[in-house]
Amino acid sequence: MAKSLKDTYRDVFGEDYKKESYKMEDHAFVHNKRVGKNVCRRCGLVALNNEFSLWSIRVGCLSEEHPQYQSKRKLTGF
Ligand SMILES: [Zn+2]
Repeated sequence: MAKSLKDTYRDVFGEDYKKESYKMEDHAFVHNKRVGKNVCRRCGLVALNNEFSLWSIRVGCLSEEHPQYQSKRKLTGF
């Protein structure tokens, strides 16, 4: 049986799903020669190898709408 969104959310984020405008939208990374990194052509996220970037990549283009965004951002000093 397929897991509900709520169960999946709890597995991934370790907390109960709250009604927010956030939803998972996969990034559309393309390699940008100028910066030498993958850049999302939808939200402009640069794929860096740090905790905040990796988190942003995992949660998708709407990471700024994510309930954990502010605390993640603070934690990693951006
Ligand atoms: Zn994106």
